[in-house]
Amino acid sequence: MIAEIISVGTELLLGNIVNTNAQYLSKKLASAGIEVHFQTVVGDNPGRIMDAVRTAYTRADMVIMTGGLGPTKDDITKEMLADYFGKKLIMDETALEMMGQLLKRIRKESLLESLKKQALVPENAKVLYNHHGTAPGIIMENKGRICILLPGPPKEMEPMFEEYCMEYLQELSHQTLVSINIKMKDFNHAPLIKVGEAPVADALGDLLDLQNPTVATYAKDDGCLIRVTAEAESREQALAMLDPVVEQIRKAVGEEYINTIREDTDQV
Ligand code: ATP
Ligand code: MG
Repeated sequence: MIAEIISVGTELLLGNIVNTNAQYLSKKLASAGIEVHFQTVVGDNPGRIMDAVRTAYTRADMVIMTGGLGPTKDDITKEMLADYFGKKLIMDETALEMMGQLLKRIRKESLLESLKKQALVPENAKVLYNHHGTAPGIIMENKGRICILLPGPPKEMEPMFEEYCMEYLQELSHQTLVSINIKMKDFNHAPLIKVGEAPVADALGDLLDLQNPTVATYAKDDGCLIRVTAEAESREQALAMLDPVVEQIRKAVGEEYINTIREDTDQV
């Protein structure tokens, strides 16, 4: 399963906000065993959103989009995707009711007519109710293509993803990714010729060509990081695949130059 992340928002292109949603989603998708080959950023422009979606489906089975689900005129993601999938938009009474309740509770105001467009959802879609804001998210499936639409604000998008998407994605992929980080000693505690990225890569040799687990090196400010990643049906299976490779790496780079070896919990 290959996914593409499309972040919608002119603010992102202007550099006014940082695309933390793409980073968050990439990490989650990796831990669910779903590959991401491309992240795209596109402005709030109908033609260019459609181009981005068409291109994404030439190289991915699933498109995950954030942003543009709100009530304003430039919020057009849902409309564009309903159009792409040939679906009509219908009013979701639960989303409408939830939106009304939220506005009454938080802003002590009633539901303006202009806000109601947020409760329109494509027919036959799975609706992801928003407990932290107004616009619901959407999952659509059609002819092997999957589309997940999520709101832009991270404080709405992240809990919605946790509640509805993580399990859904794990079921789709039947795979999980587990990584072990091997942090080499920093330059103050070991010679650069031993812990810099190039000498570490030399020492690893053919281990860098492994396919599953994969072994990769990263140059960090304080020395090299080696990340070993296995894909398997369960965390236990992945850890069992990682063990012998980590052992080989310890021998290859020299135990005395390793600082720490621990699971990459950031990824999960
Ligand atoms: P709203 O109902 O708030 O309009 P929306 O789904 O329409 O939500 P946008 O209008 O695209 O989303 O963005 C709203 C806000 O969400 C942005 O101003 C920004 O603060 C945040 N946001 C949007 N996209 C991203 C992103 N990719 N990464 C981080 N924050 C984002
Ligand atoms: Mg908006």
